[in-house]
Amino acid sequence: MRATLIYGAGDVRVEDVPDPVLREPTDALVRVLRSCICGSDLWPYGSRPASEQGDRIGHEFLGVVEDVGADVSGLKKGDVVVAPFVWADNTCDFCREGLQTSCRHGGFWGANGVDGGQGEAVRVPQAQGTLVKLSVGEDSALLPSLLSLSDVFPTGHHCAVTAGVGPGTTVTVIGDGAVGLCAVLAAKRLGAEQIILMGRHQGRTDLGRDFGASDVVAARGDEGVAKVLELTGGDGTHAVLECVGLRPAIETAVAVVRAGGRVSRVGAPQYPEVPFGWDEFRRNITLTGGIAPARAYIEELLPDVLDGSVQPGRVFDSTVGLDGVPGGYQAMADRTALKVLIRP
Ligand SMILES: [Zn+2]
Repeated sequence: MRATLIYGAGDVRVEDVPDPVLREPTDALVRVLRSCICGSDLWPYGSRPASEQGDRIGHEFLGVVEDVGADVSGLKKGDVVVAPFVWADNTCDFCREGLQTSCRHGGFWGANGVDGGQGEAVRVPQAQGTLVKLSVGEDSALLPSLLSLSDVFPTGHHCAVTAGVGPGTTVTVIGDGAVGLCAVLAAKRLGAEQIILMGRHQGRTDLGRDFGASDVVAARGDEGVAKVLELTGGDGTHAVLECVGLRPAIETAVAVVRAGGRVSRVGAPQYPEVPFGWDEFRRNITLTGGIAPARAYIEELLPDVLDGSVQPGRVFDSTVGLDGVPGGYQAMADRTALKVLIRP
């Protein structure tokens, strides 16, 4: 079969690899119907040291179960399933607490001998806990939105939930990438009263308005902060969802959060320190967020995707076959594509 491997910065290749086989009784084999490229794949694509040997990559996929190990119940050949971006048993103490990203028997795709999702098929460890069955056919028009349940939609939702977004709250979303747009969608779904989207790409912020943003602020830095404060009577918003991952974004986040409010960050932040000093203490600001336990949210978000009341799949603005994956990485790195869908 064919799959995507990363060899270093700017060096993504699609190659022949061995077909996956069941190794553990808890495994399943999944033929991939749809996968995609994540903004977080762009970090290694931008900076990974070159290596002789490539590593499988991709952590968002949905597909069809082809085979299951002896210990897997509830799944059978032919089921359409989605996988969250971290695999987990869904039964240990952390999983029961809704923190499947800390599963005692889980791990990441494309690491330690586990397949990546950007290929024709995947061996899924802890399949019974990891995979969520979808009541759709292989040709469903909902596949892009269902695929977003792997990562970007639950990640945006996690950002909103940890920031305390609910009915009547005011929200600033920083970033008009796929996660930021999904955070807008999630905040709207949770009942936010005002959603200010900070982003500079009009095509993306227009989609953000469709997803529920009430205001768009294109300015950045001090000017952007001033605009958000102006839109909120000088107070800032209850919740700030930082969906960029770079230092200036967290500085803006802290500057536009209302006293007593929460700043949540998701999407693999690339800064080790957060400005969190006396002023933030004096204003009772909470810093929260983290890697999203997507598996914890899929069942909750799924009905709204199935009935079409939310359409997070609209973040995909480009579709490629496996041959087009290297170009897809470059297009996302160049910001000419928002998020690239892969049809192996
Ligand atoms: Zn677990």
